[in-house]
Amino acid sequence: MPGFEIFGEEERKEVEEVLETGVLFRYGFEGARQGRWKAREFEAELAGRLGVGYCHLCASGTAALSTALAACGIGAGDEVIVPPFTFVATIETILYAGAVPVFADIDETLCLDPAAVEATLTPRTRGVAVVHMCGAMARIDELRDLCAKKGLILIEDACQALGGTFRGQPLGTFGKMGCFSFDPVKTVTCGEGGAVVTDDRKLYDIAQSFADHGHDHLGNDRGKEGHPILGMNYRISELNAAVGLAQLRKLEAMVERQRANKEVLKRAIGRFPVVSFRPIPDEAGDSATFLTFFLQDEGRAREAAAALGREGVDGAFYWYDNNWHYLRKWDHLFEISGWTKGDLIFGDCPKGDLSPNPGQSSKL
Ligand SMILES: *Cc1c(COP(=O)(O)O)cnc(C)c1O
Repeated sequence: MPGFEIFGEEERKEVEEVLETGVLFRYGFEGARQGRWKAREFEAELAGRLGVGYCHLCASGTAALSTALAACGIGAGDEVIVPPFTFVATIETILYAGAVPVFADIDETLCLDPAAVEATLTPRTRGVAVVHMCGAMARIDELRDLCAKKGLILIEDACQALGGTFRGQPLGTFGKMGCFSFDPVKTVTCGEGGAVVTDDRKLYDIAQSFADHGHDHLGNDRGKEGHPILGMNYRISELNAAVGLAQLRKLEAMVERQRANKEVLKRAIGRFPVVSFRPIPDEAGDSATFLTFFLQDEGRAREAAAALGREGVDGAFYWYDNNWHYLRKWDHLFEISGWTKGDLIFGDCPKGDLSPNPGQSSKL
């Protein structure tokens, strides 16, 4: 149940408050804005909910990922380990940072397999971008420990996992930086939006500056601010932040409803002995945006997805065929090989054999 299904008076009121002032910019205009700072308010609320020191709201989840990479100083020559099952933004942002995405296998959690990550390390590995796919977590404790042991930067792409936790700790708070998306189909939506979170003051300072052309945001006069670093425009508008603020306050209710729906579906589908469910390292922390299960083979998985579709179950996918989330469908990535002046390295997965998990090709 994504947020767009429950727009109501709350979203309308927040947006109207912005329109009443006419100030759509998140910085400055102190006189005109009548104390309304929607982006700031959202940041304080999200940081509070996640129990992190700092949050910076930006234009999208993709912008958040780029901002996190920049803040962590990841760039040319650096390798970042990524999963082949994610949204392409995880890869795009690494390429645009001038770094090299290196694919490691996922396991049945549908997220990076820590052993595969370890096997993929090279002397150039700088970081790991773990993706908590489909609302539930990777084996994040093991990945965090591995990164600590090897001196690697852990970035969490928690764009799909707002509201999820691992042993009580919110997803997105395990790494050096965590990234969230509030695009139109995510659990909480701003229309378009994203956020980076961190406990590290220095990383936050770089992030919030990078996302606004390097402005340092010291003092109240934008014209007199310093620009200590180069940046980009990854700012969010007050209108988008206002929608998100109302949505964020509905997060618990949404997750609760999703979990209840998941239980009903799980009970119904679990009656079929051929079905096994995606193992989730901490089932109680699943934000329950998806229910993923395995069948014996590819044919049956494809058949079951089609049959569910015919019965009107909107959004039943056989993940292996999914056009958005899987390396197999990203021909454009291969076609730009070399374009970043670094070779794209696909681990042990040469072009034409892009089946990272041949033994587990029955995902639905
Ligand atoms: C949605 C998503 C993104 C990108 O977020 P946008 O806000 O759409 O730019 C990145 N990673 C994952 C895993 C996503 O699902």
